[in-house]
Amino acid sequence: MIDFHCHLDLYPDPAAAAAACRQQGHYVLSVTTTPRAWRGTLALSKGAPRVRTALGLHPQLAHERHGELPLFEALLPETRYVGEVGLDGSPELRPHQEVQRRCFDRILAACAAAGGRVLTVHSRRAADAVLDAWERKPGAGTMILHWFTGSRRELERAAGLGCWFSVGPAMVRSSRGRDALAAMPPDRILTETDGPFATGLKGPLGPGEVEEAVAACGVSWRVPHDEAGHRLAENLRQLGETALAA
Ligand code: MN
Repeated sequence: MIDFHCHLDLYPDPAAAAAACRQQGHYVLSVTTTPRAWRGTLALSKGAPRVRTALGLHPQLAHERHGELPLFEALLPETRYVGEVGLDGSPELRPHQEVQRRCFDRILAACAAAGGRVLTVHSRRAADAVLDAWERKPGAGTMILHWFTGSRRELERAAGLGCWFSVGPAMVRSSRGRDALAAMPPDRILTETDGPFATGLKGPLGPGEVEEAVAACGVSWRVPHDEAGHRLAENLRQLGETALAA
């Protein structure tokens, strides 16, 4: 299974979560929320070649952790993957909008200077602001908007800018989420869990538990479940090529 946005380090037992990925052969993008979490989270991927670790600074933490930006820049040469990063326009975070924007701009500039990265990006209530930043700092690489909840117009703008999308079980459970999925370019979609924050029918989603999202892709694309899985795997392969060429 492809789980392109999973917080392995935030499960109650991170080592067990990582071991499950290894045993089941999942392709996992293991994201972090602060640069200080990088070393420990990277260690979880040891012996698991299909688990890649992303260097992140979560927008909900930007106001507390912006002092770690120099560490972010120092670590960036070690990875091709960046996340979780982005902007969050929720009302309670409104006082921190400016520091979020500065952090995200600086992260995008660092990615561009490093020759481009694959980024998994949070855009809750801030899709246009994320896309504005993306246009302000060209050359940052390939942006995957995770659990996209923006408007149809914002989705079309993102697609027009070449963005990818990652969709998970929690997203496709709502009709709004399924409508968004139907409007996304099928060849730029991956699956994710956003575990352990997103929940499935039996509680927090484990790494790689994306079956409901694969099924929703099949319905949306009007193809059998297996074919949806093949197409998602092909998307991942294409992403690898795109990112390598960037
Ligand atoms: Mn997340």
